[in-house]
Amino acid sequence: HYLKNIEDKQSLNAFIEVYKEEALERAVQIDEKIKTKKAGKLAGLVFGIKDLLCYQNHQVSGGSKILEGFESQFTATAVQRLLNEDAIVIGRQNCDEFGMGSSNENSAFGHVKNAADESRVPGGSSGGSAVAVQADMCLVSLGTDTGGSVRQPASFCGIVGIKPTYSRVSRWGLLAYASSFDTIGVFAKSVADCELVLQTIGGHDPNDATSSREPIKPVLVTKGKYKVAYLKEALSSEGVQGEVKDTLKSTLAQLQSDDHTVEAIEFPLLKHALPTYYILTTAESSTNLSRYDGAHYGHRSAQSEDLESMYKNSRTEGFGDEVRRRIMLGTFVLSADYHDAYFKKAQEVRRLIKDATEKILSEYDFIVIPTSPTTAFPIGANDQNPLQMYMADLFTVQASVSGIPAISIPMGKDQNNLPIGIQVMTKAFEEDKIFAFSKYLM
Ligand code: GLN
Repeated sequence: HYLKNIEDKQSLNAFIEVYKEEALERAVQIDEKIKTKKAGKLAGLVFGIKDLLCYQNHQVSGGSKILEGFESQFTATAVQRLLNEDAIVIGRQNCDEFGMGSSNENSAFGHVKNAADESRVPGGSSGGSAVAVQADMCLVSLGTDTGGSVRQPASFCGIVGIKPTYSRVSRWGLLAYASSFDTIGVFAKSVADCELVLQTIGGHDPNDATSSREPIKPVLVTKGKYKVAYLKEALSSEGVQGEVKDTLKSTLAQLQSDDHTVEAIEFPLLKHALPTYYILTTAESSTNLSRYDGAHYGHRSAQSEDLESMYKNSRTEGFGDEVRRRIMLGTFVLSADYHDAYFKKAQEVRRLIKDATEKILSEYDFIVIPTSPTTAFPIGANDQNPLQMYMADLFTVQASVSGIPAISIPMGKDQNNLPIGIQVMTKAFEEDKIFAFSKYLM
């Protein structure tokens, strides 16, 4: 069923590679296991992986030309944990190069189309992973979310996307973009599927020293009354589409009519969240991407005369415009003359945002805001204007800067029938609460 859909919907460009024979073979083996009652708890679950996750003896490219021909020698922990439970991996999915983008227009493998309207972007950077679930090419996808790359495409494609707490899921086998922000998240059509997969991939991993030892909580069943805050800015900002505001309002009204407490709060630091995010992530990415030097992995320029021109030419030929822009920005903010003015300052502001967010969450169970200020925009609308593109992340970066979990759930449609996602955030490691609340909301 899924292979047929992948075949029929090739124009969406969601997959870079499909593991057809392998997936079918594995399905037959798992059928045998089911007969003998030896199958794992996710037996037969078909999932796809964003092309930033390693899978042993398979290519991984990060949506970039620079990794041309590179095969991974090991499997990412998150992928392995699903395989251990007899899930089936069906292929690797298109994405913005190294996770940098909000529209999936920055891929060396061409842009991805939104299945709700093929003239629109699917969001990014995990656009292929979102569309694959949206268009029934797999049941769930593993994406990555550094500043919104699971939540925003989930919102644009009308599905569920969870960014877990930072460190909840091991980053072993994930191509690094910004290490202090990167998380592996899950796309599915239902909250319950996201939860099942996150419970399987989460938990400490000796291969990633930053992965948390906090135990995974069981599924929470609750009918309690919650205290919910929403940011006033979401309803007052001019840049937020009217229908997105309406969807937030109707979600809040639903909560009130069910006797939950709903209060508007101000979050004046919101306007600093985007600059903070883009200074810190470009800095981290300029460091992380220095490993792609033409010597160690993938593409090496044929034009080189000496070591320096080999580095320069390989990187110039291998990286796309957005990645180069970020490497230059990141190198600048880390440079000796500007480090204190930009990088250090941004780290201080990050702490302020995190503290202020945690303070809100000490008084409220959840913060509810739109996932994105707009619905899916037309392909090509923002691709010449990086600042406009960065605005798409206005509401998603707060959770990333703070390291807390956040989910996007489909709650409405605009007049063009494009999906609108609402985002729910809560305290670190309280994914169980987010899932329970989201099931009730949806
Ligand atoms: N759009 C954001 C960026 O370009 C988020 C990307 C992500 O979460 N990987 O950085």
